[in-house]
Amino acid sequence: MIELINVSKRFGDTEVLQGITARVERGEIFAVIGPSGAGKSTLLRLINLLDSPDGGEIQINGIDIHKKKDQHLRIRRMMGMVFQKPAAFNSTVYENIAVGLRFRGVDEEVIREKVRDVLDMVGLSGYEERRARTLSGGEMQRVALARVMVIEPEILLMDEPTANLDPVSVEKIEELVLRINRDLGTTIVISTHDMYQGQRLAHRIGVLMDGVFAQVGTPREIFTVPASREVARFVGIENIIDGVVVAGGNGRSAVDVGGTLIQVVSPFARGEDVCLCIRSEDLQIAPVDGRVSASDGNSFPGTVMSITPRGPFSRVTVDCGFALSSILSWKVVDGLDIREGSRVIVSFAPEAVHVVRATRG
Ligand code: ADP
Repeated sequence: MIELINVSKRFGDTEVLQGITARVERGEIFAVIGPSGAGKSTLLRLINLLDSPDGGEIQINGIDIHKKKDQHLRIRRMMGMVFQKPAAFNSTVYENIAVGLRFRGVDEEVIREKVRDVLDMVGLSGYEERRARTLSGGEMQRVALARVMVIEPEILLMDEPTANLDPVSVEKIEELVLRINRDLGTTIVISTHDMYQGQRLAHRIGVLMDGVFAQVGTPREIFTVPASREVARFVGIENIIDGVVVAGGNGRSAVDVGGTLIQVVSPFARGEDVCLCIRSEDLQIAPVDGRVSASDGNSFPGTVMSITPRGPFSRVTVDCGFALSSILSWKVVDGLDIREGSRVIVSFAPEAVHVVRATRG
């Protein structure tokens, strides 16, 4: 439905987008995730015709939208956009929502019905006569969403719609996004700096870094097989370790990490510089005298360097010649009877290691 072909955009000397290529399918929720300043808003504004690209093409249903000026009104009407900071007119909720329909010359009776339906959808029935500017941030954002949805757009663009909201309001907006997509089939492009929001909502994610999509894939792919060290770091993989492949080829290989050999499954050839990405939940920690289950896997003795609380879990970091961090429940940590300085064995399966080339990309 939306095709981004090598899209670039510069502000002054800074090339913010350096060649964005991706395709958003009809009926899909596509999340653009990336750190602050990565260019997420810029990309959404280009799709929404609020700004024009310096290079490349954006197609909607096969039409190059920035070329076909005579179609701008029609294309704009296919899309609705919700911004990080909702701007409301100084009038009632009803008037705020009705405005788009008024532009289209819709009958007042029909407007009333549609506003009532859309307020019901966003959970704000009965709010018609409230002054929009007296609402809470979460309610205001739901009014903004209602204002866009009342015109029944085919494409909904959402630019960090929950960045300023409390957790309960975030949950409500997220539920709405999922429901709109499921019940109305609306194609949704949402930007967020919160990778977990991307994971909760999206069918597919594009990770925007250094002006390009460093990876486009399902949440599962992005979180378990990141395409590069940068993506791995952004999606919160705790253990990213540099090494060199010393043995093997396609299949089982050994990677030298500062003199220690780690068994992995990877397609990389001997001599290649690689990064090993290991999710903290895939590491087991056992007492030194305990039985280690992964007999053909990786087991390394080490010393506990730190135990830091993290919500209901603890992050246990062990020095095995290289640092390995594991996330364990408090109960497990208590059961292991470990503290800083304790000797332990850390083990993990070769299959738990995702190997990427050490160079960028
Ligand atoms: P994100 O949404 O990922 O936080 P933005 O798209 O807002 O990122 O911004 C990307 C970069 O482009 C930032 O460095 C920002 O300062 C710059 N930028 C965005 N809009 C403009 C503009 N109108 N003029 C100059 N620089 C801009």
